[in-house]
Amino acid sequence: MTPDSRRYHITTFGCQMNKADSERMAGVLENMGFQWSDTPDDANLILYNTCTIRDNAEQKVYSYLGRQAKRKHAEPDLTLVVAGCVAQQEGDDLLRRVPEVDLVMGPQHANRLEDLLDQVAAGQQIVATEPIHIVEDITKPRRDSTVTAWVNVIYGCNERCTYCVVPGVRGVEQSRTPEAIRNEMVQLGEQGFKEVTLLGQNIDAYGRDLPGVTPEGRHQHNLTDLLYFVHDVPGIERIRFATSHPRYFTERLIQACCELPKVCEHFHIPFQSGDNDVLKAMSRGYTQEKYRRIIDRIRDLMPDASISADAIVGFPGETEAQFENTLKLVEEIEFDQLNTAAYSPRPRTPAALWENQLSEEVKADRLQRLNHLVGLKAGVRSQRYANRIEEVLVEDQNPKDPTQVMGRTRGNRLTFFPGNIEELRGRIVAVKVTEVRSFSLTGQPLSALTPV
Ligand code: SF4
Repeated sequence: MTPDSRRYHITTFGCQMNKADSERMAGVLENMGFQWSDTPDDANLILYNTCTIRDNAEQKVYSYLGRQAKRKHAEPDLTLVVAGCVAQQEGDDLLRRVPEVDLVMGPQHANRLEDLLDQVAAGQQIVATEPIHIVEDITKPRRDSTVTAWVNVIYGCNERCTYCVVPGVRGVEQSRTPEAIRNEMVQLGEQGFKEVTLLGQNIDAYGRDLPGVTPEGRHQHNLTDLLYFVHDVPGIERIRFATSHPRYFTERLIQACCELPKVCEHFHIPFQSGDNDVLKAMSRGYTQEKYRRIIDRIRDLMPDASISADAIVGFPGETEAQFENTLKLVEEIEFDQLNTAAYSPRPRTPAALWENQLSEEVKADRLQRLNHLVGLKAGVRSQRYANRIEEVLVEDQNPKDPTQVMGRTRGNRLTFFPGNIEELRGRIVAVKVTEVRSFSLTGQPLSALTPV
């Protein structure tokens, strides 16, 4: 395989963490001389970055892999890589199931891809799922956008939510140093990026594994102090962070978000259930009352803040009355966006072994009722944008209408308006909202607020 014929394709399943890991692995491959191929069929290295948060996500990768495994019999030079959470969960079992795979690598090994591929090139079949300390990347990610960027701040999760596979597949919490995070943001600012999303499975846990305690007994390194530490990075106009955990969400953080102009008024705080007994069974570590107090406090200081969340229906043992408590919370909080899912028993999670599993029919019924309510409430919540002027950071052309560009408000609302992408990409434009939909807006540009 000559260097210039080395072409790669990455298919990414799942969450923002996986998207960020795929960008890092793409950066490693391009540093090795591989070139991106828009389709897997033109590539001779195919990488699936997988998700196992629910069974259907896991099963998807096997249908994709099956086709390429057949192809490999005709093209022995084809390299097949399975990365991410299914790789970590299955390890050697995945090789037994699909022996054509060359490399199975867990999320912690993302930036070791070159070493692992060197071993594959030497004729070995590799499984890299042992827990390791994640060192800083030496190669730059190949980012999907030139305007917005993901920046990992903490890998893994030490929580033990009884339905969740993440701690088992992503390992213990490993925070990056504030200096490493700031350096990455400084480079992004120099490259013309305008917005950064700080990422962590449980971002409120940032820094608790790093040394240092303040005189008040607080972890010296924490998300709030990190926001102050990176706020003045030149060129970066907007800062977002995800995913928050109600158990650790603090008054200091809310104050900081209110005080720091670049920090966008958008909070992603999964609540999962509106019922305290279900939250207890999930080992979430907070009550619905505490969750409501957090939202109320955010809205006290930032009345227009956007609130999004995740919710699970049909958790083992959930009664109709307990499900109605979830509906009641959604009814009263009026989320801007709510990601909903029916409970899916996952390998090596406590709740999967419990007797009181609900039927698929009950789960499907509850999911449909919740989604109906979510759509209604998002529609109501969206009405506040009508005829308002919103600051929109232009990210791309509208794929459905080339006369329009698209971007998001500070509240993370997708917005479309007429414009030329070459002129407006990366600029913040004042847009008068003329049309409101449940999850997106359309408007007319007034003026560009930031220079080219
Ligand atoms: S906080 Fe809970 S739900 Fe979130 S990643 Fe950790 S274990 Fe999973």
